[in-house]
Amino acid sequence: MLLSIVVPCYNEAAVVAEFHRRIVAVCAGITDSEFELIYTDDGSVDETPVILRQLQASDERVRVVALSRNFGHQVAVSAGLEHAAGDVAVIIDADLQDPPEVIPELLARWRDGYQVVYGMRTERPGETVFKLSTAKLFYRIINRLSKVKLPLDVGDFRLLDRKVIDVLLAMPERDRFLRGMVSWIGFRQVAVMYKRAERSAGASKYPLWKMLRFAADGVLSFSLTPLRLALWVGFLSIALAFAGIVYALIIRLYTNDWVRGWTSIFTAVLFIGGAQLVTLGIIGEYIGRIYAEVKRRPLYVVAEQLGFGEEKTDSQAEA
Ligand code: UDP
Ligand code: MG
Repeated sequence: MLLSIVVPCYNEAAVVAEFHRRIVAVCAGITDSEFELIYTDDGSVDETPVILRQLQASDERVRVVALSRNFGHQVAVSAGLEHAAGDVAVIIDADLQDPPEVIPELLARWRDGYQVVYGMRTERPGETVFKLSTAKLFYRIINRLSKVKLPLDVGDFRLLDRKVIDVLLAMPERDRFLRGMVSWIGFRQVAVMYKRAERSAGASKYPLWKMLRFAADGVLSFSLTPLRLALWVGFLSIALAFAGIVYALIIRLYTNDWVRGWTSIFTAVLFIGGAQLVTLGIIGEYIGRIYAEVKRRPLYVVAEQLGFGEEKTDSQAEA
């Protein structure tokens, strides 16, 4: 049997060689399986491509898929999975935050008959209070809004059976929120606890705005609730408007100074205007995503692949 290890790398020159040493040591301990290492170079602009090339030259189990530019973490992982030949694949970050030493445990659970084994972090040292609390809030929101349930404190460090990989690759969506998609796919899933380490070197590639984008992808691709919000805002404003109408009529019919009332008109206009803009914006988000989907562009473009037998260097698109 073959185990594919999929590693997305974006500007990881500081860690990738050390990562390779650690993972090879771990794999040497797994005697009942062959393995291949698939590094996706997600358009790195540092020394990462050079180091990956060297690793590939010195170790024939290494395969490199170099994307033509930075496509983002989730796409880089998808590209790696698409090039994986294994009966089972493990997705792991290059920065050693997910300890490779946990992989034998993931494999053991797979042998127990689980098709998805995800790593659940019991500790996350080196993360800011801000990141931890926003992450918690995010999972609470998405589990509220969506029928697909996401376990808390779970990232993309996980093992996937070939069955699950094939389903995942057959899902053509552009906004790839992999942990949601895997959860949607189902099969038997189980968690393995592990202690998440600090990033061993280099900086996080997830600045705040990227994290927000990622969170938005998660909510919008798995929930229509924001769209339905318009309905509720609409009902609320109708209710308020009704109260306003009664109030206006009373003033008009039973008092002499009924010219007053510009305040209510003013607030009504503001409120309706604001509510309409917000809901239009939400609808716009979904339409934008529909637009991106219908263009049916390939998910990524491969500039070069190494270690797959016959070498390809021409740009070729794969969907
Ligand atoms: N990564 C990637 N493309 C990107 C951003 C990140 O391939 O556009 C990779 C990165 O090299 C790392 C993994 O995805 O192996 C997780 O990124 P990072 O450690 O920066 O995220 P964090 O752990 O801070 O959430
Ligand atoms: Mg990291």
